[in-house]
Amino acid sequence: TGKFFVGGNWKCNGTKDSIKQLVSDLNSATLEPDVDVVVGPPFVYIDQVKNSLTNRIEIAAQNSWIGKGGAFTGEISAEQLKDIGCKWVILGHSERRHVIGEDDQFIGKKAAYALGQDLGVIACIGELLEEREAGKTFDVCFKQLKAYAGMLSSTFNLIDAVSSWDNIVIAYEPVWAIGTGKVATPEQAQEVHVAVRDWLAKNVSSEVASKTRIIYGGSVNAGNSADLAKKDDIDGFLVGGASLKGSEFATIINSVT
Ligand code: 13P
Repeated sequence: TGKFFVGGNWKCNGTKDSIKQLVSDLNSATLEPDVDVVVGPPFVYIDQVKNSLTNRIEIAAQNSWIGKGGAFTGEISAEQLKDIGCKWVILGHSERRHVIGEDDQFIGKKAAYALGQDLGVIACIGELLEEREAGKTFDVCFKQLKAYAGMLSSTFNLIDAVSSWDNIVIAYEPVWAIGTGKVATPEQAQEVHVAVRDWLAKNVSSEVASKTRIIYGGSVNAGNSADLAKKDDIDGFLVGGASLKGSEFATIINSVT
């Protein structure tokens, strides 16, 4: 389903110098041609990265404001991201949900707004450890998906709401796997990806279900990406820590099968 998609989420890491080095490593890496590659630098370094990348890598922002810009101190609008050349925005990341406190509806609205501004959205979902242990993984993921889908259908007309799924990549990132070194097994990830695809088939359309890329994130590294990539419904990765090392990120990109 769709072209393999690998995103590097740099989170709140880096300096001008370390990012210069990372971009230079990415520029000299050989990347499989049949993979969409995106990196998400902190806002303040986006321009630096954009101007120094020579490899065919697109830029994602790590967040965007919920609507049009204006008197919203500290926020960055989707229009501004578009203006400086971002193609994508990561929304609904677990750190924004659980550290900063964004809720499903707020995230859904941000996604609808960003799509309306012609940005691609990397729409994150995923359960906490206690939710998994309580057998609520699917419930939590479906509730998060429902908020994205609901905001799309209330913001766009039916045709535009369905076609806006062309610009969405779903990132399944179990919170217990993020930054912990405890990667989901290929079977655990595959199980949720299949459930997400079934949910899309039932609640959006079978066409959207089959073409939407569902990528996995949470402790992906050069040592585990190849086994994960073998699973039918794992269409790529969202990589945190390992995306800060150019050669390791390239290995993950090249694990496409
Ligand atoms: P790690 O790869 O560092 O676990 O982070 C994953 C993530 O949150 C990507 O968005």
